[in-house]
Amino acid sequence: MSATDCTDFATLAIHAGFDPDPVTGDVVPPMHVTSTFVQDRPGELREGYEYGRCGNPTTNAFAGALAALEGATHGFAFPSGMSAEDTVIRLLARPGDHVVHSTDVYGGTHKLLSVIKPVEGITSQAADLSDLAEAEHVIREQRPQIVWVETPSNPFLTVTDIAAVAALTHEVGGLLIVDNTFATPFLQRPLALGADVVVHSTTKYVGGHSDVVGGAVILRDGLELPGHVEPFFGERDAAAEAVKLQMALGHVPSPRDTYLAHRGLKTLALRVERHCANALAVATFLASHPKVSAVHYPGLASDPGYELAQRQNPRGVGGVLSFQVATGEAALEVTMRTRIFALAASLGAPESLIEHPAIMTHSTRVGGVGGVPATLVRLAVGLEDVGDLIADLDQALAGI
Ligand SMILES: *Cc1c(COP(=O)(O)O)cnc(C)c1O
Repeated sequence: MSATDCTDFATLAIHAGFDPDPVTGDVVPPMHVTSTFVQDRPGELREGYEYGRCGNPTTNAFAGALAALEGATHGFAFPSGMSAEDTVIRLLARPGDHVVHSTDVYGGTHKLLSVIKPVEGITSQAADLSDLAEAEHVIREQRPQIVWVETPSNPFLTVTDIAAVAALTHEVGGLLIVDNTFATPFLQRPLALGADVVVHSTTKYVGGHSDVVGGAVILRDGLELPGHVEPFFGERDAAAEAVKLQMALGHVPSPRDTYLAHRGLKTLALRVERHCANALAVATFLASHPKVSAVHYPGLASDPGYELAQRQNPRGVGGVLSFQVATGEAALEVTMRTRIFALAASLGAPESLIEHPAIMTHSTRVGGVGGVPATLVRLAVGLEDVGDLIADLDQALAGI
């Protein structure tokens, strides 16, 4: 048995996607920084590699490893999470199609679906899919071709029942896409719960070190294009079509970036365990703080998502949480008074970050139903000593 036959997460994370090089013995996938590949005769490629936009061994090793962790064969790496999202919609939807998505989605996803895709003839509707009665009503009424779920969500950390929404989506002939950036495959494997596609911003926990921007798409094994979708390149098999589509669009990452993302992936289990433990301790501290009016974190027993998260995410619910203080002014004050938590928009890194969603990450979603209030502060709890993190928040809150 080789290490890549193992199914335990930590072992797969370290070994999937790459066997030590038979010639040189490299234990990690080398960084293949080349824009083209020598052919032995015209059209006779070595291992299928031809030109940098059409495939790179470093990138393929990373995409294969991430796919294995999500329980699939076919993974595709992208230069950003947003380019992954744009490409997967081009792959699976056509003008006239409709998308139903979680109200509480990443700001960029909201912009893609509400500003860009309508021009391409694809409409969308937000719904609180964490409320199954609402999910059932909206999906049965609108019969979307795509349902887009983010769970736990951003920035309210609501939890959506992936298996239940997958069943509803399939009942109307749609496909379920899950953005698994927040949970990572260590905490949640959407394909095993019935999703058809997983997308990632590998900028976050997968890369894990604040030094790379990237994205990924993972397709359920055997996924076919929906009947009404005419393939651009004649392939009904979604993975075969995706290879050609990505090549045609040129949405390919640098091998330097996929090398770094793959290095991050190897320690994903260790890091996410600690992110979860630190975030739970921080959430518990905030929940009892007199200046905090609400904490959104499904690891707390008082959170509305707690029970579902216990079932869907038994290893933990991740490192992001948000909380509210009395006024928008006070929220801004907190974000500027922390000394360890850096004021920056991102998550999934060793460094703890703090941000003000209404101004920074979710400015397109201020006001209205599901809108982001000015009193909200989001934390991406990092890997520092948790006592130091709590002390930092304590002094920041004392100053407001
Ligand atoms: C960051 C993020 C994205 C977008 O990814 P980029 O790598 O920034 O393009 C999408 N979804 C979620 C949940 C994210 O956190």
